[in-house]
Amino acid sequence: MNILLVGAGLSGAVIGRKLAEAGHSITVVDSRAHIAGNCHTERDAQTGVMVHIYGPHIFHTDDAEVWDYVNSFETFMPYKNRVKTTSGGQVFSLPINLHTINQFYNRTMRPDEARAFIEEQADTSIAEPQNFEEQAMRFVGGALYEAFFKGYTIKQWGVSPTELPAAILKRLPVRFNYDDNYFFHRFQGMPENGYTEMVARILDHPAITVHLNTRFTRDMADDYDHVFYSGPLDGYFDYELGRLGYRTLDFERFSYEGDYQGCAVMNYGEETVPFTRITEHKHFSPWESHDGSVCYREFSRDCEPDDIPYYPIRQVKEKALLAEYVALVEQTSGVTFVGRLGTYRYLDMDVTIREALDTADAFLAKGTDLPAF
Ligand code: FAD
Ligand code: UDP
Repeated sequence: MNILLVGAGLSGAVIGRKLAEAGHSITVVDSRAHIAGNCHTERDAQTGVMVHIYGPHIFHTDDAEVWDYVNSFETFMPYKNRVKTTSGGQVFSLPINLHTINQFYNRTMRPDEARAFIEEQADTSIAEPQNFEEQAMRFVGGALYEAFFKGYTIKQWGVSPTELPAAILKRLPVRFNYDDNYFFHRFQGMPENGYTEMVARILDHPAITVHLNTRFTRDMADDYDHVFYSGPLDGYFDYELGRLGYRTLDFERFSYEGDYQGCAVMNYGEETVPFTRITEHKHFSPWESHDGSVCYREFSRDCEPDDIPYYPIRQVKEKALLAEYVALVEQTSGVTFVGRLGTYRYLDMDVTIREALDTADAFLAKGTDLPAF
């Protein structure tokens, strides 16, 4: 079959590769000038530092098959994300762990003491947290919430944490030991030569042709037996029902001679600091040595039509509109909607790859339209 993949990010590349290996002819189009979508990495011309162009990307997974998959295309170097946060004129360790708690309260508690102490700070009258704020109040209490989560979350999402689902905060663990690894997954690492090199290798197959700077229009589908679409769901339908809400990011780049902050990611917990975090990219490649440094200040705001959609908002209003688009999808044949934008979900890279592998397998097994939501 002749198959069109819209988007040369992880979704498009992984599906394309699997179908190419099964004997199909694959065309990939992407409106950008590069492959790899939002995990695109590029060496800075001046310093040689590998820069995560669309924001920091750390690979972490419990899925052994996905880990083997990425390692078959790229060497992954050991990397643990150890995030710091600045609040109240001090630097603390994230996610909240025993060091954070002892430093914040100026104590020397052992694990059991800290657990009991935090339980005293927590609002135990909240049986089932209904929103982000309640989740924080229930599990860490008001003081830690105010210092580390409230301001950051208002900046990140542009709304009060009382309007956000508790699930957003559940992504972060609270630990009563000194483990400061941001993630708890079994496999974690960083591609030695960046994500774009990995995606280039995935796409490197004689049956795959890639066209960059090429925006998909629906009439292109006429030339193909099937389309896998990883662009924005509402964009496929020319936004005819309205736009699904996203947050976008602005990155303010600056360079520095030396080591600017001593770590890859420094968050800023207070609302008075306008950016959410500063990323110093050379710390993502600790096995390399660079004198110069490239940093990004990261600002979050509502996505306008010409901006890059980053974080799906998925509040009540957006979910209602999503349901209307899903109804349109159900009337559409010959297209499978995939990936972060195509299904309007926040997906980590490992989940994106897992879903792409499963989508390709299901297509090969059935060769028909697949449910995407
Ligand atoms: P994308 O990478 O968005 O690719 C979609 C592609 O489609 C893009 O290249 C786009 O140009 C193209 N496209 C769209 N519309 C059209 C069109 N009409 N015509 C042609 N091409 C089109 N995951 C992790 O696991 N760890 C992390 O640390 C992490 N950090 C992240 C940080 C940020 C700031 C963000 C936003 C995401 C992060 N992620 C992280 C998630 C990760 O970026 C995604 O899982 C992954 O990029 C999804 O791949 P995708 O192919 O579905 O989408
Ligand atoms: N968060 C916060 N303070 C921090 C880091 C995270 O309040 O220093 C909140 C914020 O609302 C964020 C959520 O926790 O959206 C999940 O954090 P994560 O690091 O997973 O955010 P992402 O990777 O999505 O940017």
